[in-house]
Amino acid sequence: DGRWFAVRVAPLGSHGLVLVLAEDLTEMRRVEAIRRDFVANVSHELKTPVGALSLLAETVEGAADDPDAVRRFAGRMQMESVRLTNLVQDLMTLSRIQGDEPLPELHPVSLDEVIVEALDRCQIKAGARGIELSSGGRDGLKVRGDEELLTTAIRNLIDNAVAYSPENTRVVVATRQCEDDHVEINVTDQGIGIPDGDLERIFERFYRVDPARSRQTGGTGLGLAIVKHVTTKHGGEVTVWSKEGSGSTFTIRLPLLNAPREHVHSDDAER
Ligand code: ADP
Repeated sequence: DGRWFAVRVAPLGSHGLVLVLAEDLTEMRRVEAIRRDFVANVSHELKTPVGALSLLAETVEGAADDPDAVRRFAGRMQMESVRLTNLVQDLMTLSRIQGDEPLPELHPVSLDEVIVEALDRCQIKAGARGIELSSGGRDGLKVRGDEELLTTAIRNLIDNAVAYSPENTRVVVATRQCEDDHVEINVTDQGIGIPDGDLERIFERFYRVDPARSRQTGGTGLGLAIVKHVTTKHGGEVTVWSKEGSGSTFTIRLPLLNAPREHVHSDDAER
């Protein structure tokens, strides 16, 4: 059936018995192929900004007596450097979280703080496109986790919501406590949406619905892969609902650390 096995034969004692061990190599080959694909993809992704930078450096040299052109090329060089830095940063984050080992240090993390921080980091980009960011839902929820990684995951979702939305729309981050001691963080946009056929693949590394658009917005193609791994590492999951032309909602679901005490009215307390 197309599977590969390594067979080892070892003699057992002096009675002519042998032990036969068959090791399934199919999985090893699959993992090796994924690794090779990944290295090829990374090399390709690195080549684009590095190639652009070297071309721009050559061009700027030839335009030394035209200050306007120098300024323009310098701006584009800066953009390509930012793209390169983001890619390396995302690769480092992914390499830290995609293995099987658990995260080293987990602490109680306030979702309110993480969401405020993630929104802050996206504010300039959103403001530049007239996109209004807001948050709502249940306050005071906590999870056990790595604050920086959770901030990165939520920030990646907000960044995408902004990048794949028209100007002057809204992005809302809302928390919800579920009955089964889990919490949901929903990031909803009024953007371009995702075709049904692509929904299953968008969490793969370097998968893009529209590569030209992703490149234009400066995306690394790793944002959602990071969100998926961060969520899984925290014992949760990420899901998406989307309608082309109307918008998308990405939902991160995590185990809740504390169920916040309900507010007790003084009347109730006296009863
Ligand atoms: P990228 O850097 O390309 O944004 P991601 O891994 O963050 O990479 O996302 C993968 C792809 O999923 C994007 O290229 C885009 O096609 C699609 N996508 C992600 N978020 C959204 C969204 N909120 N609305 C529409 N499409 C999205």
